[in-house]
Amino acid sequence: MSRPSYLTWLKPTVGVSFENNLLTVGAPSSFHSQMLQSRMINLIQTTATKVLGGPCDVCFVLSGATPQSPPLTNTAGGHSSRHLTRGTGPAPDYPKLNPKYTLDSFVVGPSNQFAHAAALAVTHNPGVAYNPLFLYGGVGLGKTHLLQGIGRTFLNQGLNCVYINSEQFTNEFILSIQTKKTREFRNKFRSADVLLVDDIQFIAGKEAIQEGFFHTFNELHNNNKQIVLACDRPSASLKYLEERLLSRFDWGLSADIQKPDQETRLAILSAKAASLGSPVPADVLSFIAARFSSSVRELEGALNRVFAYSDLTAVPLSLELANISLSDLLSSSNRTVPSSDQILSEVASFYKVDGRLLSGNRKDRLISRARQTAVYLLRETGELSLSDIASTLGGRDYSTIRHSWTKVTSLLKEDPDLRQEISAIQEELTLG
Ligand code: ADP
Ligand code: MG
Repeated sequence: MSRPSYLTWLKPTVGVSFENNLLTVGAPSSFHSQMLQSRMINLIQTTATKVLGGPCDVCFVLSGATPQSPPLTNTAGGHSSRHLTRGTGPAPDYPKLNPKYTLDSFVVGPSNQFAHAAALAVTHNPGVAYNPLFLYGGVGLGKTHLLQGIGRTFLNQGLNCVYINSEQFTNEFILSIQTKKTREFRNKFRSADVLLVDDIQFIAGKEAIQEGFFHTFNELHNNNKQIVLACDRPSASLKYLEERLLSRFDWGLSADIQKPDQETRLAILSAKAASLGSPVPADVLSFIAARFSSSVRELEGALNRVFAYSDLTAVPLSLELANISLSDLLSSSNRTVPSSDQILSEVASFYKVDGRLLSGNRKDRLISRARQTAVYLLRETGELSLSDIASTLGGRDYSTIRHSWTKVTSLLKEDPDLRQEISAIQEELTLG
């Protein structure tokens, strides 16, 4: 970007907030905000994505007199669909819901249809059948989208809906103790018709917070208020989560979101392209869908990158352009995904065990450890699904593999030796 355009358009902006993948930027006038929106959105989005390490949406609002002023909402400027909206309920300080995250814009495929159906069921019958609804799945697979989609639906029905991340819950809880405002804190939640808590894994291990959450949970649950939780792993593998909370989570329904298959990835990309209003050649979409499989976030990032590249170079979208603009991502992803054979042989040589034993049933300490590490690496580094891992390891059953996976992820937190072993093997794999 040229210096004059930087000075004119970017320098006078301020960061207002970054929540739920939505970066809110304050612009000094509605003209600025229009220009940023129409001319520079792709560049800003791509750059922000790079800096933040994951795709984000950007919206512009009029900035107040000082950069410290609280986030503004519903101000003029920007594209209307990108406006921030705020709930109609009495609580004044909802975290914002990303307007893009609706149940309608959530593309349904085999990997997420159960979770989506559960979300719909909850919006039709809040507080009745599935309470709490516990959504879980890996990073970038759509948990926040689904959770906020539920929130949006309830808001549209005029319900008082509180959406919060468990980190924010923690911070607010601590602050309320420090400022002796625990009553206000509790009231805020007590008045909710629906409570949505994102990334609940962050409260594991924090006893006082769990205590606070337990009471909030019970109070709402007893009053048949709907609770929906999102988590990056199944509730059973939340180490250091109090038993009584765990049993509460099990009262309702648990629904997982898996990595999308090729067809769903294609559908998500097509929807995303359509929402951006620019036609994208079908071969470009298939190209991206075939090569970016680990998360929806990654998929969207790739599409954004191709868009931005086309914009900046003024070259129309084509397969060739996609290839060029994604080349570094593609080569790095090729490099970092080793085959399952490579992983198994690296694990065997690291622990100095016979590789064939990894697929067997022997339970000596060393072999069990090597097998668990193998499961972990096949999933994390090899990007295999648990059922693929089950068949790779000599047709073991899914629940055994799932058990190993759960065990090793929780062990990792408390066992520095294991962390070291795993990273040593990972290093070998990337070097080799
Ligand atoms: P998580 O909370 O699981 O890490 P997010 O909900 O933030 O993931 O999703 C990452 C991105 O992928 C978001 O931009 C979201 O809109 C998009 N996304 C995920 N799943 C879907 C889907 N099924 N349909 C459309 N967009 C999706
Ligand atoms: Mg999330």
